[in-house]
Amino acid sequence: MNLLLFGPPGAGKGTQSQFLVQRLGYRHFSTGDLFRAALRLGTRLGLEAKGFMERGELVPDRIVIGMVEEEFRKLGENQAWILDGFPRTVPQGEALEDMLQRLGISIGRVVFLTVRRELLIKRLSGRRMTADGKYVYNIEFNPPKMPGVCDVTGEKLIQRDDDREDVVLNRLKTYEEMTEPLKQFYAAKNRLSEVKGEGDPEVVHSRILELIQ
Ligand code: AMP
Repeated sequence: MNLLLFGPPGAGKGTQSQFLVQRLGYRHFSTGDLFRAALRLGTRLGLEAKGFMERGELVPDRIVIGMVEEEFRKLGENQAWILDGFPRTVPQGEALEDMLQRLGISIGRVVFLTVRRELLIKRLSGRRMTADGKYVYNIEFNPPKMPGVCDVTGEKLIQRDDDREDVVLNRLKTYEEMTEPLKQFYAAKNRLSEVKGEGDPEVVHSRILELIQ
């Protein structure tokens, strides 16, 4: 069953996607990860997205929609996927409907992760990770054994530029204005399921499993 993971920044979409990839063999694509990879490689796409990302704003729909369509074309048949971080506006949601219809693919469930705002701010501003984003910690909720150093690779941990508190507040505001209306969009299609995203990540994972299995 294809899934769309949806919710505010810091809701745990990335963490939950990783569980689903490792345990159920899902293919995960996150538009945020795709933009960060493009930025690291210095491609045109990365340069186009850079300023918007640094300010905690959304990259224009035209750019994101083109990128997502390209990713869908690369997918093998019968590969179940999770889309994380897309759509983030109602026009993106409409473009996704069009795209999937053209490609003959459907979304099984839209999982909306709910987390209180104060907790989102702590999760985002306390987040630290390896440069490739593979190992993620939180200085308060899941600190590494040695401050600032990855337990697994020994690398120095970094803070994402857009996890600085001023940018975090802007990302949340952007989310409330631009992305939250999608809840109504999917509720009207009877595809929306709300899952409490607070608590132990394993418990959140089991709530998602209950819903999709
Ligand atoms: P994320 O890792 O999902 O928090 O995304 C990081 C940043 O990438 C966002 O703050 C946006 O600037 C940009 N971005 C990711 N996905 C989208 C999207 N669907 N539409 C517009 N901008 C996006």
